[in-house]
Amino acid sequence: MERLQKVIAHAGIASRRKAEELIVEGKVKVNGKTVKELGVKVGSNDKIEVNGIPVEREEPVYFILYKPRGVISSVNDDKGRKVVTDYFSEIEARIYPIGRLDYDTSGIILLTNDGEFANIMMHPKGEIEKVYVAKVKGIPAREKVKQLERGIMLEDGKTAPAKAKILSVDKKKGTSIVELKIHEGRNRQVRRMFEAIGTPVMKLKRERYSFLNLNGLQPGDARELTAHEVKLLR
Ligand code: URA
Repeated sequence: MERLQKVIAHAGIASRRKAEELIVEGKVKVNGKTVKELGVKVGSNDKIEVNGIPVEREEPVYFILYKPRGVISSVNDDKGRKVVTDYFSEIEARIYPIGRLDYDTSGIILLTNDGEFANIMMHPKGEIEKVYVAKVKGIPAREKVKQLERGIMLEDGKTAPAKAKILSVDKKKGTSIVELKIHEGRNRQVRRMFEAIGTPVMKLKRERYSFLNLNGLQPGDARELTAHEVKLLR
């Protein structure tokens, strides 16, 4: 469900502010009834009219992008850096990323214009597993790996149980590749977790998001999710 003024704004009819004015002025109908109070929420099946003209709701679209490193998870950047939506310049729908990956992190990110879906993904009822593969400085001791799994005390609280596995070690270079499976999505969480056990991240990639992986995609590639995939994620 989304706020009526947001839907009107999203359809490109008016700014959020102007949409609020239209509502208060009694120019907006939902399912044939005039709505004058702000705060009313509408679902994707509700019929909205502004000044008697039906609001064209944008068809919901859903994409997976293999975000390369050096790209901002946003729709614009005031410093002019590349953003994830630059990979969708030929798509008319106003899509945005669901959550974020750090500038230097590569891997799976989903984009949509469906606010309801984005909300469900960001605040899921069940748990969405995300699999990260990190190249870290040093070789984490077994006890440190266990600590990652049990939970690490970070500034914003203890992390939830996770799964961690050392995939390989380069003894000469003193680096390791570690897989970390987590369900949370706090800001810079994976980097902070590895930092906390004394093996900072040198390179980070999100390889899986729920059941979605990067098979068949190169950095910068995107594809539309199938209806079946979207249904399974919801
Ligand atoms: N954790 C991080 O530290 N960075 C990301 O981009 C994603 C998860």
